[in-house]
Amino acid sequence: MAGAARVKHYHAPGRVNLIGEHTDYNGGFVMPIAIGLGCDVRRSAIRKKELRLVSAQFPGELAYPLAAIPSMEKTGTWADYVLGVAREILALGMEIKPAKLAVDATVPTGSGLSSSAALEVSSALALLDGRELPKVELARLCQRAERDFVGLPCGIMDQYAAVHGEAHRAIMLDCRSVTHQLVPIPEGAEVVVVNTMVKHELGSSAYRQRVAECQEALSHFPGKAALRDVTLAELERAAAKMAETPLARARHNILENLRVEGFHRAAVDGDLAAMGKLMVESHRSLQHDYEVSCAELDFLVDTALTLDGVHGARMTGGGFGGCTVNLAEPGSVDAFEREIKARYQARWGLNPAVYRCTPSAGAGRVE
Ligand code: ADP
Ligand code: MG
Repeated sequence: MAGAARVKHYHAPGRVNLIGEHTDYNGGFVMPIAIGLGCDVRRSAIRKKELRLVSAQFPGELAYPLAAIPSMEKTGTWADYVLGVAREILALGMEIKPAKLAVDATVPTGSGLSSSAALEVSSALALLDGRELPKVELARLCQRAERDFVGLPCGIMDQYAAVHGEAHRAIMLDCRSVTHQLVPIPEGAEVVVVNTMVKHELGSSAYRQRVAECQEALSHFPGKAALRDVTLAELERAAAKMAETPLARARHNILENLRVEGFHRAAVDGDLAAMGKLMVESHRSLQHDYEVSCAELDFLVDTALTLDGVHGARMTGGGFGGCTVNLAEPGSVDAFEREIKARYQARWGLNPAVYRCTPSAGAGRVE
């Protein structure tokens, strides 16, 4: 096929976070796995000095003169994720050649499985077109694109997971040192994600608000660089002087970091019951202390916990919709899927997508 050889194909995975929610931007611990669903970008060279973008998930073709990219304002479209990445590459003094990027994702967009980082990382690889950056630099570049150009004050987790994913392993990421340990997923556990199919408008404003509330909480601890550094005993001593909201946000963060460490130990020990219990505690904390859950997520978690073979369940991602992550016995997954779909449909009139997730490799070129 003439021309086909000039198309280069890059892939980056989405991710599901097993535990450690809203801790990444506070310098804490998270434990995502990269998943089989992801984003594919096919790059072809073009003559005109522009960046041309199409996506199978969004209509239309967008085109931007390469010379205009460094000084562009954000467009308010999905192109911002790619333009943000392009700007960061240019800022490193690297060239971007005229290209068309054709995007197609299997990871659902806006569901908390990080289609945005998958888009950023696969686009970055396509724009770099064979030039290599150290993995952590690639992740940081994509985070800067989302934080500084798209304008979401996100942590490093999503981009890091998209770059560093490994088959059969979860990634315990220390968001302070930006280094990770690989964690085995014990036999007898399957990761099953259930999508509420809702995304409440509150989501992105509440995210910013939580970031600000954590900063406020941190201001009670002079000399501490991040909530990660505050101990439970220190929080208890400061509690009387703190307003209820920042106190609850800080409590979630401190306990959630301890839960990630406990989950890590339990995974190494193959203690599925302990892993599941920590997931449920994480959910309750997100529900009551951090207040980022919603009725649909709570319903999915509460329902999952009544079903056979479920070790644990919790909301995953930013909250206010999106997905739950469930740890289930492999032999129970078929029945789990049937039951949770039927009950969610009966209660909410929506058909929830269910994804069986296996820990997958990180981003790269697809030959
Ligand atoms: P999540 O990362 O949890 O999926 P976000 O709100 O962070 O949700 O990112 C979703 C946004 O990322 C979409 O609204 C769109 O702008 C962009 N995006 C993700 N995947 C694609 C895609 N395949 N094509 C075009 N834009 C995409
Ligand atoms: Mg995202």
